[in-house]
Amino acid sequence: MNMSDTQKMPVLFIGHGSPMNAIEDNVYTRGWEEIARKIPEPDAILAISAHWYTNGIRVADTARPKTIYDMYGFPDELYKVDYSVPGAPELAHLTKRLISRNVQIDNNWGIDHGTWSVLHKMYPKAEIPVCQLSVDRSASAETHFKIGQEISALREKGVLIFSSGNVVHNLAKINWEIEGGHPWAMEFDRYIKENIINRQFQNVVNYKSAGKSAEMAFSTYEHFYPLLYSIGASKKEDRIIIFNDSCTLGSLSMTCYLFE
Ligand code: ZN
Repeated sequence: MNMSDTQKMPVLFIGHGSPMNAIEDNVYTRGWEEIARKIPEPDAILAISAHWYTNGIRVADTARPKTIYDMYGFPDELYKVDYSVPGAPELAHLTKRLISRNVQIDNNWGIDHGTWSVLHKMYPKAEIPVCQLSVDRSASAETHFKIGQEISALREKGVLIFSSGNVVHNLAKINWEIEGGHPWAMEFDRYIKENIINRQFQNVVNYKSAGKSAEMAFSTYEHFYPLLYSIGASKKEDRIIIFNDSCTLGSLSMTCYLFE
């Protein structure tokens, strides 16, 4: 990995949705492929996935992370996706140094489907080194935002800060018959979008001020928190690009944000 000073990298938040996106070709996966072609190719990727939700902050510094199949009951084809990317030990150590809280090195996890289901589409050759940073379940929304601010400096080092979750993620309310979103899902998605466009990031951190729709948007936080790293790592001068801007299956938002 060449961590010399290069062009400033963007920050990306992806709404990943169903793991099946890894092997499907649809409007969302095409949006991911297109954004990968549009942004500069990173030297390395720091991935913050909803699916590595831990007590305390962990980072993996292995040179050979394994592909994790942390989803159940899907077709065999999905378990055959092998995203054997190189790891990024140097990036892991730099990330640990940048974060003011305690960060543990942990190589028991790997590249989970929150990361590979998207990167498999964005960078199918699996050549760009990836390091995963966990989402601390005991930390407040404000803390996740602050960690995003602290790791923002990685953008100057050719690193793509890539976070993957969903702004709205309420599996109990999924309706396979619905193409779009329930009204409350679209309302919460819109609340987040408007505040991001207007750079009112405190209203995103304090998402409860959205009211009733915030109570419905998710019952656990792991898919929402990755967004806070992205807005934390963004800068005033960044242009904000929104894509895959929609809800699906009633209670999932696929909306993605690029700060560049
Ligand atoms: Zn997920």
